[in-house]
Amino acid sequence: MDAAKYIWMNGKFVAWGDAKVHVLSHTLHYGNGVIEGTKAYKTERGYAIFRLNDHTKRLKESAKMTLLNIPYSVEEMNQAQVELIRKNEFKGDNVYIRPFAFLGYGVMGVYHKDAPVETAIAAWEWGAYLGEEGMKKGIKLKIVSMTRPANTSNMGKAKATANYLNSQMAKYEAIDCGYEEALLLDDQGYIAEASGASFFMVKNGVLITPPNDNSLESITQKTVIEMAQKMGITVERRRISREDVYIADEAFLTGTAAEITPVRLIDAREIGCGARGEITEKLQSAYFDIVFGRNKEYEHYLTYV
Ligand code: PMP
Repeated sequence: MDAAKYIWMNGKFVAWGDAKVHVLSHTLHYGNGVIEGTKAYKTERGYAIFRLNDHTKRLKESAKMTLLNIPYSVEEMNQAQVELIRKNEFKGDNVYIRPFAFLGYGVMGVYHKDAPVETAIAAWEWGAYLGEEGMKKGIKLKIVSMTRPANTSNMGKAKATANYLNSQMAKYEAIDCGYEEALLLDDQGYIAEASGASFFMVKNGVLITPPNDNSLESITQKTVIEMAQKMGITVERRRISREDVYIADEAFLTGTAAEITPVRLIDAREIGCGARGEITEKLQSAYFDIVFGRNKEYEHYLTYV
């Protein structure tokens, strides 16, 4: 990864190399932490963070779900992210921001009430999550053997560190089998989401994406739905089966890091023409116009640094 100069840690800016934790930190052992993934883009007017408040609010809400008490307000954490981007003096077009909270040193039992909550924000330059070529030509998806854990035993709506064990196993399996990304079903056999992105498909001109019954309430998914509706595309939020996916005309993934990544193949079935679809391309270029500050209608989603 590309190191930056500073990391914000518990209210202070510390040198990148000094942002350390004890090996007996509670979260390293039991996995209760929460993360965000936010992005800043270099616009003509300098860096702008996309939907900053929505991301920070989701971090605080994830923490509430997993019983972590972050001692900073949304406003304080928003301000820290703005300052972090300024202080690091980035140069590239894409900066990824990772605000997170975890349990530190001092308690070794599973019961975590008295373990100290540590809050940190890092930012670094990070390009296309699924590769530049994938953004143009599309990627290969595998419906993997693991499903998203059922809602009876998991909190999929929390962007919780612990949820990423499932994502990690899924992604590993997909790549090991020669694919680029994993698509996970829910425990009922319907499409839930990818390992770190939401799923969309197009059938007969209609854009379809599953409800967030067993997936993260994604900010990019909401943005794409809003964009599509404003473009006059019909959007349906409904359960999608494996068979629906195989005969889709187009498919793509969305996420802060994945942005809009076309899908060209799923489980050995070519999707549509086996390349980036027409609606996918339209949405992809509209999305980049928005995040790079070239569309005034969406200006309210940008926080200039
Ligand atoms: N699902 C999962 C599991 C994710 O990790 C992400 C990335 N944060 C997403 C969906 C997409 O969410 P967002 O659009 O808010 O980045």
